[in-house]
Amino acid sequence: MALNGRFPDTMLAHLGWPEADHLRLRPDAAASITRLAAAFEAHFGKPLYLSDAYRTYATQVSLKATKGVFAATPGTSNHGWGIAIDAASRVNVDGSAEHRWFEANARPYGWINPAWAQDYNSNNGQHEPWHWEYSAARDTHPTSAPAQEDDMPTTQEIHDTVVSILRASEFFGTAGAPGAAVKRIAAQVLESKVSNDTGTLAQTVRDTRRIARRHELADYPDS
Ligand SMILES: [Zn+2]
Repeated sequence: MALNGRFPDTMLAHLGWPEADHLRLRPDAAASITRLAAAFEAHFGKPLYLSDAYRTYATQVSLKATKGVFAATPGTSNHGWGIAIDAASRVNVDGSAEHRWFEANARPYGWINPAWAQDYNSNNGQHEPWHWEYSAARDTHPTSAPAQEDDMPTTQEIHDTVVSILRASEFFGTAGAPGAAVKRIAAQVLESKVSNDTGTLAQTVRDTRRIARRHELADYPDS
């Protein structure tokens, strides 16, 4: 859990539209929400505003102090894994046209409003129509690494960072931890890349995700 909220800048990408480019997510999630925001704007004729995306560990600590049960235990939030957004623009309002549009359209982009954020269970106190989470396994659109990563050389330091992040079970954004096969294969791919020192960081991440996703889908059918 040590990496939650402590991603290095190289593992985060700014969102790709003006109203949200001050916020960051894991690069595949950033690319996907940018596509979804474009579809939202095309439909409603107004941009999508977000109130939050990636959250540092320090921010999680301060939110927990002020919001109590409405904030995740620091170090466990999907905001800290760079795969969660809090939407505004009335997506945050139950029953609004904007919320219903997200419910009808976000899933094929990889985004859902998870079950815990829909109930009114007073034991967890959480009802968050604004909170949406990304899974690459759900994303039906082709993913591509952001341009700024494409020419980045694969240094040992960057690779070591990628290896450690990929080994964190939450990295793949599944509901549960990825199977042992996924982690083993991801580690093998990355270690062979490190020892050969070929390719770029973006290519390494793409290769690993593609392989991991294939095994992940076999291990965890997205029902
Ligand atoms: Zn949230």
